[in-house]
Amino acid sequence: MNPYLENLDRIEFPITYSCTGRCRHCSEADKSKKRLVSGEICAEAVKRIASAYNIRSVMTFGGEPLLYPEDVFKIHSAAREAGIPKRQIITNGCFTKDRKKSLEIAARLVESSCNAVLISADIFHQEFLPIDDVIEFACEINRISPSSVKVNPAWIKGRGAGNEYDRRTAEIVSEFERRGVPCGKGNVIFPAGNALKYLSEYFEPGREYINPYEEDPKDLKTVSIEPDGSVLGGNILSQDILTILDNYRG
Ligand code: SF4
Repeated sequence: MNPYLENLDRIEFPITYSCTGRCRHCSEADKSKKRLVSGEICAEAVKRIASAYNIRSVMTFGGEPLLYPEDVFKIHSAAREAGIPKRQIITNGCFTKDRKKSLEIAARLVESSCNAVLISADIFHQEFLPIDDVIEFACEINRISPSSVKVNPAWIKGRGAGNEYDRRTAEIVSEFERRGVPCGKGNVIFPAGNALKYLSEYFEPGREYINPYEEDPKDLKTVSIEPDGSVLGGNILSQDILTILDNYRG
């Protein structure tokens, strides 16, 4: 086994960098990268990786991943078939104006065996996305599969902090909780992308922030397959994923 990947246990799919939101804290800068890879090819990659590594979790996210629901379903179904226990999605819950379709996608997401739905909802998302639609989507998941959905807010500092953004996010979270959808631990905003541009006054000048998503390239725990198929210097559109992983040298 490639020594740089001995501890590999997670596969991530940023499905698309296109999004229905325009959040001012967004750190996804490269919205120009197009989705070129199909759900089938991603599903096959999941199975191939899981056949060689002890993969414990798969996550789909974006942008807004449910702009490509069929691809998301195929990836989570493949993860279940490969015996991967944790199958997560991060969604803003607002990917169509058609409410009936939104509820259908909620049901099919559960059916595809996605077992952890993290709903991005907070003052930043709800500046542009209607909260009623998102609550309805979350409640539908909760109705079909009660322990599989949580709100996953972005905080400046955290719940209970005194700043205006966190106070308004806490109010939004409470609206979900009143409807029976619990709140997870969420995340604290990292200074990158739009966050640096619009929220700079909340970051301490001169302080070195550690990117929580950055990994040691010589001891990767996560492999991330981009919307155009690129991964670790190769591309699953033209190469076998296991060959790409074998050839990886940090
Ligand atoms: S934070 Fe998420 S929902 Fe908001 S614009 Fe960025 S990718 Fe879209």
